[in-house]
Parts: sequence; C-alpha cells; structure tokens
Amino acid sequence: MAVPKRRTSKMKKRLRRSGQRWRAAKLNVCSECGSATKSHTACPSCGYYKGRQVLTVDEF
Ligand SMILES: [Zn+2]
Repeated sequence: MAVPKRRTSKMKKRLRRSGQRWRAAKLNVCSECGSATKSHTACPSCGYYKGRQVLTVDEF
C-alpha cells in the first residue's frame, strides 16, 4: 500500500480544509424519527443507528 513520504504540514492541511468552511455539512434523515443526523453517527434525538437502538436518550 502506498504511504505518504512526508507528513502534511499544518499550513497545507489548513489550506485544504479552508475550502470546506463555506459549505454546511451534509445531513442525513433519521430512518426512525425523521430528524437530521450526521452520517456514520447515531441519531442524537432517538439514539438509533442503522435501525438499531445504540444509545439511551432521556426523554422529557
Ligand atoms: Zn432518530
């Protein structure tokens, strides 16, 4: 597997990521409760991930 020869400098990393600043993160819709969630993250409002309860969320 190819491996980078040099560690990416802080400057290079920051310059590359500066292009991500002006776009909001893409959000998915939870299959259980329909709220917006980040991808590859358990739903913060119902605690489901991939159709399975993974977190216990206190409901008021
Ligand atoms: Zn949910």
